[in-house]
Amino acid sequence: MSLPEFKLLRPSSIEQASELLARYSSEGTFAFPPGARGSPPGGIRIIAGGTDLIPSMRQKLFEPQYVLDLRRIDELKGINPQPDNGVIIGALTTLTMIEHSSFLKGHYQVLSEAAAAVASPVIRNMGTIGGNICLDTRCLWYNQSLTWRKACGFCIKKEGDLCHVAPGGTKCWAAFSADTPPALLCLNAEIEIVGPKGARRIPLRDFYTGLGDAYCKLEANEILTRILIPSASAGYRGIYRKLRIRGSIDYPLAAVAVALKRANGQIMAGQVALTAVHSAPLLVKGAAQMLQGQQVDQALAEAVADLAAKTAKPLTTSALTPEYRREMIRVFTRRALIEAASN
Ligand SMILES: Cc1cc2nc3c(=O)[nH]c(=O)nc-3n(C[C@H](O)[C@H](O)[C@H](O)COP(=O)(O)OP(=O)(O)OC[C@H]3O[C@@H](n4cnc5c(N)ncnc54)[C@H](O)[C@@H]3O)c2cc1C
Ligand code: SF4
Repeated sequence: MSLPEFKLLRPSSIEQASELLARYSSEGTFAFPPGARGSPPGGIRIIAGGTDLIPSMRQKLFEPQYVLDLRRIDELKGINPQPDNGVIIGALTTLTMIEHSSFLKGHYQVLSEAAAAVASPVIRNMGTIGGNICLDTRCLWYNQSLTWRKACGFCIKKEGDLCHVAPGGTKCWAAFSADTPPALLCLNAEIEIVGPKGARRIPLRDFYTGLGDAYCKLEANEILTRILIPSASAGYRGIYRKLRIRGSIDYPLAAVAVALKRANGQIMAGQVALTAVHSAPLLVKGAAQMLQGQQVDQALAEAVADLAAKTAKPLTTSALTPEYRREMIRVFTRRALIEAASN
């Protein structure tokens, strides 16, 4: 599968990148007829590590006229511990750096574990945390070549008007399938976004829409610049568990992040979050309240696991059945809680 033609832009500062995005995000040959869904050809797309964008461009899921490469922007790279043990992570920091950072392993264990679970070592060397947070949602009917999709009549997410997963509906249900966002949700992370109106900071939990097509609140002229984790989230015991087909290199098909802060055997605070079982990564609502002030035993772990399984909404977007993926959410949550609460 060949890459579509595009012009590569290589700014060396956030300011320059912002200007280029503002200039080219309104241009483009919008070739689809009115009403057609998906990412139309033309316009501009950001590339960080390229580990998802390039395969997607080969499949003609994205056909931008301009590609904006962030890799010359040094201010977007690095892990910067703050004096109070909070941390600011540049969006261009690689997953390998996050996996191996002794600061993150010591203070934000669930994030290092989740980063280590992404794809394979070679992909983690290239792939960035910003790209992971902004990763497109995935579906069996969408992540295919143009010929394959055309043979099936396309679908709502791109170029078509029906959904093969929920026929009769008008919505796309593609699954958000990145590993680090549930860990970041457990840690109450915020993100910084830079656009024509300057920088804005929002909690990561407000970034995703829950839709399979327009899945996040990032405009075409905006860049995700930094991830900010507050000091109050330092020192949580974290576990990340993931279901995938090939253990050595694969997207999650159901996964759970658990983070617990304990004192004298009791849980002071705890969070559980899921990925790959909905169009957004999800914090399990009510889990924090169930855990606070308790000691984790089998009964509590099972009750929280039931809640996590109810929160998951897997559909037939992947090779494994929704029933199995939901059940694995229950199993992983129970095991992760018991493990995180043990010495
Ligand atoms: C074989 C294979 C297996 C994989 N397995 C996994 C897996 O197990 N888990 C997983 O989570 N991912 C997996 N991936 C996907 C991908 O490698 C990772 O999600 C990676 O973190 C993406 O980061 P990147 O820097 O390469 O993103 P890119 O491919 O450069 O970009 C991804 C998307 O994010 C946007 N983007 C990137 N950076 C920014 C920014 N700073 N601001 C705004 N928009 C931005 C791009 O425009 C693009 O839409 C896999 C990929 C492959 C090819
Ligand atoms: S859920 Fe899958 S088949 Fe349905 S519109 Fe979305 S990508 Fe297409």
